[in-house]
Amino acid sequence: MSTGKIVSILLFMIGILLIIGGGLYNPYAETMVLPPGGVKGIGFHMDAGETHVFEVNADHMVTVYVMDNQSFEKALVNGNFTDSLYVQTAAHLSFSFTAPKDGVYYIVIANFNSPGFVTATLTYGYGEFWALIITGAIVCGVAILILVYDIQNSKYTPPTLDSQCPYCGAKVSSSWNYCPVCRTPLRKEVKL
Ligand SMILES: [Zn+2]
Repeated sequence: MSTGKIVSILLFMIGILLIIGGGLYNPYAETMVLPPGGVKGIGFHMDAGETHVFEVNADHMVTVYVMDNQSFEKALVNGNFTDSLYVQTAAHLSFSFTAPKDGVYYIVIANFNSPGFVTATLTYGYGEFWALIITGAIVCGVAILILVYDIQNSKYTPPTLDSQCPYCGAKVSSSWNYCPVCRTPLRKEVKL
């Protein structure tokens, strides 16, 4: 196999990995089982202005809060969950949260709506990382170009019949040693 083909295949694989990596950028999931009235908070350190995309999928309605460190600690002590930055009740929800300042933020999932146990999964990530996806697509494109170029260059080009055999008059190439028709040497240095 030619170097061009090997380079092209390697590049294509790198490109696909980048595209996959960009699509699954930093995924994280945690599944929890909450008894009636149960609360679970998962803390994330976030810088000011940092945005995460969160998704909650549960087998029953849950209430999801986003709280800063202090509010969550207070809520655990006094049971007051009103001091939150986000609140939504649903079985399936997706939202993005941007940290107003540096700190630890809690995604709090509460089973306040069901008389039985609820299983909930929290997924988070930065969403699609488009720089990786686009870079991957460009790398794949370059790989395809290299492959096309390599295939076109490796095509057989017939020799130009730019000369004539001095013995039989057949059209020959000046790069040949013998006439293919009568086997006459076409170069002086070639001996029979
Ligand atoms: Zn000849």
